[in-house]
Amino acid sequence: MNVVVLLGAPGAGKGTQAPLLATRLGIPIVATGDLFRAAVRDGTAMGQDARRYMDAGQLVPDEITVRLLLDRLGRPDAAAGVILDGFPRTGVQAAALDRELAGRDARVGAAILVDVPIDELVRRMSGRWVCRAAGHPHHETFSPPQVVGVCDLDGSELYQRADDRPATIRARMDQQLGALAEVIDHYRSSGVLRTVDGLQGIGGVAEAIGTTLDDAGIRPADALKEPSAG
Ligand SMILES: [Zn+2]
Repeated sequence: MNVVVLLGAPGAGKGTQAPLLATRLGIPIVATGDLFRAAVRDGTAMGQDARRYMDAGQLVPDEITVRLLLDRLGRPDAAAGVILDGFPRTGVQAAALDRELAGRDARVGAAILVDVPIDELVRRMSGRWVCRAAGHPHHETFSPPQVVGVCDLDGSELYQRADDRPATIRARMDQQLGALAEVIDHYRSSGVLRTVDGLQGIGGVAEAIGTTLDDAGIRPADALKEPSAG
């Protein structure tokens, strides 16, 4: 079973890479947000537990999250493995996941970090400007207006919301990177951390992830089923 953890800060492009990796390996993406929503929708006991925390605006405790995750790993489509996106978020969660997987004779085979320097993350995340008239979004880098400071659609002034200003983004990012660093350290010490340069284009990052997984001996699900084929 290939359990691959995908790690990256907000804005690093992890969300773009997850489906590419899922296609490459032929295994599903498991995102904890989806697990919570599905459990709540299905009305399971764990879903009701999770819902109480979500309704109160609190984080769902690790124990419930890990149990939901293990349930998901037991489904037929996950037999060859899963890509974990958004979990673990802390060192404590990473350790809990290791313990639970060990109980099933499984382990995290690779933790892939899509690495982007914080200055670049801030640039990506803080480049959003909206217009005064209708809030039309523009982005300094990804969708710049034809005239600086002017909405392409209605000619009104562009401004930056407080949430989108570099200082705000950087403060939020510092917090998130602290938790991410714990998880990175955890997988570095267990020897499964693989870092790819997230400054390449989408295709370049996908290729680098593929290469590093080959190095780690993690093969597509089809290859696992038919080791002698082809
Ligand atoms: Zn506009």
